Amino acid sequence: MFTLDDLLIATGGKLVSKGNEIFKEASIDTRTIGKNDLFFALKGSKKDGHEFVDEALIKASGAVVSKNEGMDFKNKTVVIVDDTLKSLQNLAGYLRKKFKGKIIAVVGSNGKTTTKELIASFLSKKYKILKTEGNFNNNIGVPLCISRIENNTEIMVLELGTNRPGDIKELCDIVYPDYALITNIGYEHIEGFGSIQGVREGELEILPYVKTVFANGDDKFLMDGLKRYSGQILTFGMSKECDFRAENINFYNDHVEFDFYSDIAAFAVKTPLVGIYNIYNLTGAIAVATFLGISKCSIQQITESFTSVKMRGEIIKINGVEIFFDAYNANPSSMKVALQELTRRKKGRRTVAVLGDMLELGEFTDLAHEEVGKWVNEMGIDIFIGVGKFIKNALRYVNGYVFNDPIQAAEFLKKELKGSEIVLIKGSRAMKLEKILEILKEGR
Ligand code: ATP
Ligand code: MG
Repeated sequence: MFTLDDLLIATGGKLVSKGNEIFKEASIDTRTIGKNDLFFALKGSKKDGHEFVDEALIKASGAVVSKNEGMDFKNKTVVIVDDTLKSLQNLAGYLRKKFKGKIIAVVGSNGKTTTKELIASFLSKKYKILKTEGNFNNNIGVPLCISRIENNTEIMVLELGTNRPGDIKELCDIVYPDYALITNIGYEHIEGFGSIQGVREGELEILPYVKTVFANGDDKFLMDGLKRYSGQILTFGMSKECDFRAENINFYNDHVEFDFYSDIAAFAVKTPLVGIYNIYNLTGAIAVATFLGISKCSIQQITESFTSVKMRGEIIKINGVEIFFDAYNANPSSMKVALQELTRRKKGRRTVAVLGDMLELGEFTDLAHEEVGKWVNEMGIDIFIGVGKFIKNALRYVNGYVFNDPIQAAEFLKKELKGSEIVLIKGSRAMKLEKILEILKEGR
């Protein structure tokens, strides 16, 4: 929630029509805009938001625009600024400065959304929280989230994403987080960063802003990068040296149990989440929660019922076949942990890996896909099916089948399945591997 005064002070914009003076949130999409919202006309790569201002003024409380020739204001609030995106960011920065509560920023290569959702679930047991929705973690999504701040908001949990150097700094100049949680450093967005060192530098742009960092203590490369940091470092992970750690991990058919230890609290945890990597996400999130005073009972209650975030590590049964559906995104690091989870769950069954292209890897693209072929081979996966053009490189190291589109792959897979396999489906979002799941379901 914010006022017209907030907006004018934050943006230096010119008021050309005065209607409502209090807005529930900023919006950039007239399909979802609410009547108390304020529309920001952003210029996208395909469309210019100014084409939708008329519709926005019918549905919502006003608009922020950079041009207003011939505009019918409809007695709604209209503010003119030079740059609508910068204004949205300035508004968020202004609201953040007025905010007296704490802000936790979740950064890192993999597991941000899952960790953010976990932290938000834990903290909401005690605090009024605001979190970035879904995967809205960029220089538009994060400001939109901050615009939803309410008078009684106590803690914000924000996922900050990065594709290239400077992204995290730009977001931090708006967000000024109090705490950072760094999930890990892996091979992602290499196109923008050039190398894994570049990825680490990009994520560590958050350091000058925060006094306390929660970091994956088992990620040696991350920990090396943190040596220059003089603030408080609290580590989470599985090794004995971690401040917050998971011990005595036991995998069962449909859940995992482990003991959480720290100086603050120690208790047993039960989770339906899939994959060793999720134990890191959980341990990091529990670390933040216990640090901020969430009780053992509240944490245990959430962990027992928290299932995967959509398309990330869902377990789906179709005609006796177990599908490990993890098609939200893919990069070499998350591909490897997913393959490890596939083999860990094998239990005498035939294993099938349906793997799509991993995008945004720049010059490492061919090599990274070859590497995936090596892992599939080394892990002894029974059937390998690739989807896309880059994944063909995997065939250098493993025998298998590669298709250009997911529908062909699904038809082939359907013929291969006998009814007792375990199948991993994973690839970059743009590969649309959810189509495979749809086709398998149709065949029920
Ligand atoms: P994005 O960069 O798309 O925002 P993210 O960092 O938010 O991704 P999630 O959406 O939580 O990550 O998880 C995406 C996928 O990454 C999961 O489905 C899983 O394959 C993998 N993953 C999740 N957590 C980890 C982790 N701690 N380590 C390695 N891989 C992980
Ligand atoms: Mg995310």
